[in-house]
Amino acid sequence: MDIIEKIADLQPILKDFLDRGLKIGFVPTMGALHQGHISLVEKAKKENQKVVVSIFVNPTQFNNPDDLKKYPRMPETDFKLLERAETDVIFFPDENEIYPPGYQKAEEFNFGNLEKVMEGKFRPGHFKGVAEVVSRLFEIVTPHRAYFGEKDFQQLAVIRELVRTKNFPVEIIGCPTIREADGLAMSSRNLLLSAEMRKEAAKISKALFHFREQWKSKPLAEVKKEAISMIESSGKLRVEYIEVADAKTLELLDVWNGSITQRCLTAVQAGNIRLIDNVQL
Ligand code: AMP
Repeated sequence: MDIIEKIADLQPILKDFLDRGLKIGFVPTMGALHQGHISLVEKAKKENQKVVVSIFVNPTQFNNPDDLKKYPRMPETDFKLLERAETDVIFFPDENEIYPPGYQKAEEFNFGNLEKVMEGKFRPGHFKGVAEVVSRLFEIVTPHRAYFGEKDFQQLAVIRELVRTKNFPVEIIGCPTIREADGLAMSSRNLLLSAEMRKEAAKISKALFHFREQWKSKPLAEVKKEAISMIESSGKLRVEYIEVADAKTLELLDVWNGSITQRCLTAVQAGNIRLIDNVQL
């Protein structure tokens, strides 16, 4: 496994793969890896001859400087996990490498409704930052396939739109959310939860599963209310939003029109840690 910090060192390795006709699967991450990330690597490994994983905490997608500062970083542990998952190349650049002095954003990204609702509304500029770094990484890594988790469902939709509008020659593969035994969606941010909040956080997925069971038999507004009170029952968690959306367009829905696939998505504040999760209805 190669651990590469510089684009100039990555290029000959990628050129060799491409010259040999090998397919490259790519998994972009911000590190502090867990089984959710590793499931993406394993899928990439099955579907491609070479797997590149990037670890880069992208400052341009953080709308809250404190969130960026406290984001967990543990590269040595990450390297070991990735070695065990038989990763071929780790790309571990610093900020200067991704955004060199004089770097200018190619253009402003615009994703319409996709970046106006839910995460877009509560984290202004977040998806422009995500699109910026993913575009840079696609240009650098030139993967055939790239793997993203449904855990960040709105991000996955934004990236599909990015690839569609910019014609990146890459296939986007969405992968199911991996959960802890109590249902909590795995997330690097879970590491920042106190023991008490970690226990509370299991209510988030329980409320989403409740939603999934109940939404057909009751008005959505009523199920929403139930889900919110399940999450907020002890007053420790606070729901920022819980929405039902068209799984493709992410248009928010008040009622089911009977023909489209729906997703229920939520963001919850657990003390000063913000957690997101979603389920297919
Ligand atoms: P991050 O390091 O949080 O930027 O995540 C890197 C990739 O891993 C993204 O595509 C995430 O959606 C994905 N991911 C994070 N958590 C999970 C999870 N619990 N299950 C599946 N994929 C995940």
